[in-house]
Amino acid sequence: RTGLAVRGLVVRYEGPGRAGTTAVAGVDLDVGVGEVVALLGPSGSGKSSLLRAVAGLEPVAAGAVTWDGRDVTGVPVHRRGFGLMFQDGQLFPHRSVAGNVGYGLATAGLRRAARDARVAELLELVGLAGYGPRAVSTLSGGQAQRVALARSLAPAPQLLLLDEPLSALDRGLRERLTGELHDILRRTGTTALYVTHDHDEAFTVADRVAVMIDGRFAQVDRPGRLWRAP
Ligand code: ADP
Ligand code: ADP
Repeated sequence: RTGLAVRGLVVRYEGPGRAGTTAVAGVDLDVGVGEVVALLGPSGSGKSSLLRAVAGLEPVAAGAVTWDGRDVTGVPVHRRGFGLMFQDGQLFPHRSVAGNVGYGLATAGLRRAARDARVAELLELVGLAGYGPRAVSTLSGGQAQRVALARSLAPAPQLLLLDEPLSALDRGLRERLTGELHDILRRTGTTALYVTHDHDEAFTVADRVAVMIDGRFAQVDRPGRLWRAP
């Protein structure tokens, strides 16, 4: 198994007349199985565009995305066993916590007893054991993001794509959840691509960090070996 390989990827948005934006200007990236790579860079540097292109949610102007050597360029995320987690707006408001976490398992045809066991295991993993029957409207922001994480991990995705998953939370909570997220991704052996504009978050969560500026990688290395602004 070789994991994710991105080669010469270009994402372009059309604009009026000749104006247009090249959001991703031809990048190469490998994410090994079980590895967590952060895409770190300022707003507008192309992180989300790259992530969404890997997810098959954004048209690719040039280049290719492969998983374990198979070409998955343009194949939507849910049809290739990838998971997604966004900043917010992702829980079904009228379902219970358990209903949210188990949603994908139900549509995948997992039977009730197996589903309940898996949901309980996931809630335990994110520190919300016993929260299954609660309405999501009663959760704090941090709890809601834990439920969202549990839901995105439920089908044991081959690759988990996270787009600023903690950026809607306040600083203290974000720091705590960043550490937890690191542990959870390691314990579950999840392969992940993690978009953030926060240095500390990237350095805590990731095995390697790709620093993105103007649609290109300025550097890609392990957190301890990266050049750091003074
Ligand atoms: P981010 O928080 O990742 O920087 P933005 O707030 O820039 O994202 O963008 C939010 C949404 O608006 C995204 O779906 C993005 O694709 C879209 N968007 C961003 N920039 C533009 C733009 N110049 N024109 C149209 N849509 C945009
Ligand atoms: P980041 O995630 O690093 O904030 P984005 O990928 O959201 O960066 O944006 C990269 C560039 O592409 C920005 O100039 C942004 O305005 C532009 N962009 C993003 N989404 C769209 C869109 N849907 N339509 C037009 N331009 C977009």
